[in-house]
Amino acid sequence: MDQASAAMLQALERQRAAFTAAMPEPLSARRDRIERAIALLVEHQAELAAAASADFGHRSTEQTLLTDILPSVSALKHARGHLKRWARGERRATLFPLGLIGGRSRIEYQPKGVIGIIAPWNFPIGMVMAPLAGVLAAGNRALIKPSEFTPRVSDLLADLIAQRFAPEEVAVFTGGVEVGTAFAALPFDHLVFTGATSVGKHVMRAAAENLVPVTLELGGKSPTIVSRSADLPRAAERIALGKMMNAGQICLAPDYLLVPREREGAVIDALREGVTRMYPTLLANDDYTSVINARHRARLEAHLADALAKGAEAIEVNPAGEDFAASNRNKLPLTILRNVDDGMTVMQEEIFGPILPVVPYDTIEAVIAYINARPRPLGLYWFGRDRAEERQVLSRTLSGGVTINDVVFHVTMDDLPFGGIGPSGMGHYHGIEGFRSFSHARSIYRQSPLDVAALAGLKPPYGKLTRITLQRELRK
Ligand code: NAD
Repeated sequence: MDQASAAMLQALERQRAAFTAAMPEPLSARRDRIERAIALLVEHQAELAAAASADFGHRSTEQTLLTDILPSVSALKHARGHLKRWARGERRATLFPLGLIGGRSRIEYQPKGVIGIIAPWNFPIGMVMAPLAGVLAAGNRALIKPSEFTPRVSDLLADLIAQRFAPEEVAVFTGGVEVGTAFAALPFDHLVFTGATSVGKHVMRAAAENLVPVTLELGGKSPTIVSRSADLPRAAERIALGKMMNAGQICLAPDYLLVPREREGAVIDALREGVTRMYPTLLANDDYTSVINARHRARLEAHLADALAKGAEAIEVNPAGEDFAASNRNKLPLTILRNVDDGMTVMQEEIFGPILPVVPYDTIEAVIAYINARPRPLGLYWFGRDRAEERQVLSRTLSGGVTINDVVFHVTMDDLPFGGIGPSGMGHYHGIEGFRSFSHARSIYRQSPLDVAALAGLKPPYGKLTRITLQRELRK
């Protein structure tokens, strides 16, 4: 075992020993930890946003506050406000007739112990702190492995957390794939991984070695359907806003559009107008975020080159006609693609950047068949007013979550569980579902003081009473 692995294992063992000694984790201690996490974010919001901007090459301060810090604070406050109710046990039905003679069934929610959190770079603060809200509310300790692609944010989080939390409460380990690999192999009581579907497979394999339960928050291609009944300008503006945010580097970003064939041109025009209104310029515009690094910029440019070589048409939305090629930064404008097909890489992989393919359709049945023929997505968006069509889309497709008449928004509802399905992930966090993911639902049955086994003929020597019980219960 190398030094990094040994240090992480030692930290985990230290946390587990502290957890065991402290059991039961009182609600006051959990609340106090949540409050320290809120204070950390509120007091250091400016430094965190500056670090994120430096890591991205440029990232809008307002955007970091709105999409990283605010959702984290909101999730933590939601957990603080609901913790007492979530943590309350539940009475459950007791098998007849045991309930009548004093038998009692109930559930108690216990913290699992030490939870690992592995986070990606795209929301480098939120993807650490939002899972932490549920982890702390449930009474657990946490080890965190933030992304190596945002080293300033990761180092700052490590420092701030070390200032506010004892290492046996919450601790951070920074590093790249090797540290991540060693981290995923630790014998946690639960592991939350947010990242790519391909990496999720490695993480689940590593966790399987210790039978560690996992919550996997992965990615995929989230379809956006524009119905014939949609208010086009409004839909286009909301899609433009959702796609341009973080320059498309959002797990829930609208990956591609499905539009009525006869309205394809009108949708593209409306998208162009929507982007132009919000971002009249891009390169020197503080509101517009950069692609994270040169490698990702090259990945996106390769998608475009591949699509163009195979016959796609590119519509670059560059309102001020700026020269991105001459820029030594990694900002990219939005490129809308038409005439795309399944042979293009852009239609095979999650895009995760400012490229938006448009796929025309004739009928909503064809849209549903198109979505169902592909891997189950993390998000699905439908814009329209036709309630029957809305119901048809909701009932005949599957996805992690849905936003109707907007994109991405369902993730901001603290009381809705968040998670994927199939290749877009497994398990949930946020709200009570997060609390339960990080808790053990322990079943407790209290037996009746009466001699139940004798009363029902359940103990040998078996005889007449046994036969009566069996005849009564074993009927159709
Ligand atoms: P990534 O999977 O490359 O990295 C995520 C984290 O895993 C990083 O901390 C990395 O160091 C670590 N890691 C890398 N290899 C590992 C391994 N073999 N074992 C253990 N850990 C390892 O993802 P990324 O590029 O940082 O983020 C982009 C992806 O994350 C996209 O696919 C996006 O859709 C997804 N994402 C999903 C959600 C969600 O909530 N579902 C949110 C944000 C991002």
